Amino acid sequence: MEPQGYRELLDRVKDHLQAEGMKKVSRLTLPIPDTKFIGNRTYLYNFKQFTDMMRRDPNRVLMYLARELATAASMDQEGRAIFIGRKNKDSFRVLLERYINDNVICSVCGSPDTHTERLKKVTMLVCEACGAKNPTKE
Ligand SMILES: [Zn+2]
Repeated sequence: MEPQGYRELLDRVKDHLQAEGMKKVSRLTLPIPDTKFIGNRTYLYNFKQFTDMMRRDPNRVLMYLARELATAASMDQEGRAIFIGRKNKDSFRVLLERYINDNVICSVCGSPDTHTERLKKVTMLVCEACGAKNPTKE
């Protein structure tokens, strides 16, 4: 007899959490990352579309992407993000979704209408729909 109950339960909880995460992101309907390789760089043409939608400082989001992709990044005057190395379109999608789940979507009511407030050393996510305040994971 296999003691499988616990393992199964964990898997089920994980599936459930992932499904919840997808649901939250879908409220925002993310654009598809528009990327192109030029030489040894990856251009993310519609970077500004994402940050406008999230209403977050593009520099912070850029820093997050650069850190997660373990590379250097910059932004040009048109608001395009440029990464050193060839980065996969899907990795941008996954990282931007994760950023939104962790730093934009309200964990209480699921609303994307939020902003951040600096409180001493902690950045708080403030929900404009339900008023909840929670530290961001950024
Ligand atoms: Zn809320």
